[in-house]
Amino acid sequence: MSQEFDLAILGAGPGGYVAAIRAAQLGMRVAIVEKEKLGGTCLHRGCIPSKALLRSAEVYATLKERDKYGIVAEGVGIDFGKMQTRKQGIVDQLHKGVQYLMEKSKITVFKGYGRVMGPSIFSPQAGAVRIENEAGEQEMIVPRFLLLATGSRPRTIPGLEIDKEYVLTADEALQLDTLPASMLIVGGGVIGIEWASMLSDLEVDVTVVEAAERILPQEDEEVSREMARLLKKRKVKVVTGAKLLAETLVRGQGGLTIQAETAGGVQRFHAEKMLVSVGRRANVENLGLEATEVKVDGGVIEVGPFYQTAEPHIYAIGDVIGGLQLAHVASHEGMIAVEHMAGLSPAPLDYTKVPRCTYSRPEVAGIGLTEAEARRQGYEVKTGRFSFKALGKALVYGENDGFVKLVADARTDDLLGVHMIGPHVTELISEAGLARVLDATPWEIAHTIHPHPTLSEAMGEAALAVDGSAIQS
Ligand code: FAD
Repeated sequence: MSQEFDLAILGAGPGGYVAAIRAAQLGMRVAIVEKEKLGGTCLHRGCIPSKALLRSAEVYATLKERDKYGIVAEGVGIDFGKMQTRKQGIVDQLHKGVQYLMEKSKITVFKGYGRVMGPSIFSPQAGAVRIENEAGEQEMIVPRFLLLATGSRPRTIPGLEIDKEYVLTADEALQLDTLPASMLIVGGGVIGIEWASMLSDLEVDVTVVEAAERILPQEDEEVSREMARLLKKRKVKVVTGAKLLAETLVRGQGGLTIQAETAGGVQRFHAEKMLVSVGRRANVENLGLEATEVKVDGGVIEVGPFYQTAEPHIYAIGDVIGGLQLAHVASHEGMIAVEHMAGLSPAPLDYTKVPRCTYSRPEVAGIGLTEAEARRQGYEVKTGRFSFKALGKALVYGENDGFVKLVADARTDDLLGVHMIGPHVTELISEAGLARVLDATPWEIAHTIHPHPTLSEAMGEAALAVDGSAIQS
């Protein structure tokens, strides 16, 4: 007999499992179906493992500069195997944490592949999801609501097929046993730049090839420029405006070569491995959607402001609906969707209040409009900028590259965006997030007392600089 639930969720990434907990809090009987492991891309192939390796790389980079801190140590080196073991330990510990949360919230977990059964059987009373496990055994559950949180997978480029030896995505790169001598990174977005930073700190010879005119193209132009400058200072080759000629790829004999059209003519690249980081494709296939009214447009599931699809009892959230493909976005969308199902009145998510982070060295963080976007949208813009060079705590910390930049509306004083590059800015950006939620002006940020000496003082000083009254510069 089929089990009945108030809600079935397909996919237990940060979108699905957070939504499951919120639904259980609201008194729903919840089933979550996961074909691999609880925690999804973020926990097993994304946010957490990549940040664990980045942290090891950062410690090594600091140790290489030990003389500057007055530390004497012999025999400092890299044991990449141990870095991988540490990474896996963190992932396993958090995986157990998610399992515990499911048990604690009395959420029924099904291990298997979930598919919507049609035709269009979703109604306030009934619906059905077929779950198939690895052994091919099937069972059916009948939920009142269905939440699609099936996430995404790496996008590839025709001609650069992933062979797991020469051409990799971040999925394979995270599993490497040994570091390559050189890496060609295709794509200078967040994932590409995090890998460029990590590998170069681990003494891999890195080249980044980006099709757009600048790396981190979604960030403020000044931030992109500073990141490119700092990577180049670390001997990372950054080639922008480059069109990779996939048909020229030659793999074998311990490496690969490929050519790209650039402003300076055709360039040839050679590396031991290539990492393709050119975005993510939503997992919309084989979900049985053809038997429903759910619409897929541009490769992502179409939803309304509360993540309802064209079938009122089917919702979709997270990477599978496109937009800002971030873990914290997926989680918030999940909570909003579930609250909407439960008849509450959640506020729609304002995507201009979502922080975006790149965990490279130095880190990058941004929220709201870039200066160029603000001007394009017709705002009369004023900006305030404060460099970490002038900040005591950054000097004490030993990392003083970068800056904080505020973008404000010159007519109303509204804060439009905050852009940062520098030490720990992925933590500092939360103050900007709160400021955006509370509609704080630069004046209010400037008059928030930032303790001394802290990196957060850069935020206060940049806010003062909006009206030309920074103290420390
Ligand atoms: P996912 O996490 O992809 O989870 C979807 C789950 O659904 C998967 O577990 C999958 O197995 C399962 N599934 C799919 N189809 C079915 C089915 N039919 N039946 C059952 N189960 C199914 N974001 C950040 O915010 N910060 C970061 O630092 C960050 N770093 C990243 C680094 C890398 C290398 C990558 C690749 C991504 C990173 N991201 C980061 C992005 C983040 O991982 C995703 O935005 C987030 O995981 C999306 O969550 P989700 O729940 O929508 O989907």
